[in-house]
Amino acid sequence: MPLKVNEIFYSIQGESSYAGRPCVFVRLTGCNLRCSYCDTRYAYYEGIDLEPDDILKQIENYDCTLVEITGGEPLIQEGTPYLTDLLLQKGYTVLMETNGSQDISKIPVECIRIMDIKCPSSGEEKKNDLGNLGRMTFRDELKFVIANRDDYGYAKSIMHIMDSEFIKTGLIHFSPVFGKMDVISLAEWILEDHLNVRLHLQLHKLIWGQEQRGV
Ligand code: SF4
Repeated sequence: MPLKVNEIFYSIQGESSYAGRPCVFVRLTGCNLRCSYCDTRYAYYEGIDLEPDDILKQIENYDCTLVEITGGEPLIQEGTPYLTDLLLQKGYTVLMETNGSQDISKIPVECIRIMDIKCPSSGEEKKNDLGNLGRMTFRDELKFVIANRDDYGYAKSIMHIMDSEFIKTGLIHFSPVFGKMDVISLAEWILEDHLNVRLHLQLHKLIWGQEQRGV
């Protein structure tokens, strides 16, 4: 089954505990959300259909064992679980960035799922599937993109829910909206509250700037 692919490129991973590592990115077309701060609007519709084997061939050209499937929202395409399986079978370390509105159990647990929980400033927090919190494993990572104090309070309230035992991930990222959230303020809030989270800066944007595509 073909997948609609927006772009495949080689860059530095910037949005997880893998930040800083060279990585091949497969950006799939389409998203079911419309976040206010979205920086990949070009991926909503643009793309070409590619068979999984053709995607694999392009990835192999980069001689890199780390691959990230991203979007858009990768889990709205039917072929995504197959592509993930294929890459895992070929021995790649596979990351997937997902917006938190789709059931992550469609994807094998061997894939490291980096899941957003949308905060109020996104305008999409009602679409969060909080059932995913119980579907995560210790390998998965959670990310809150924070634009203001309201978002920060919302993220803390979700972390309160997460204190229950069934939430397994230990990696929680607080990521400031680039150009909107003052990083120093966010750092101070985290320290004041003694939160066990990771202040996370979008490394690829610090290197190449906000508008650059394919990085
Ligand atoms: S989920 Fe991601 S790609 Fe979709 S609208 Fe939000 S920021 Fe953009």
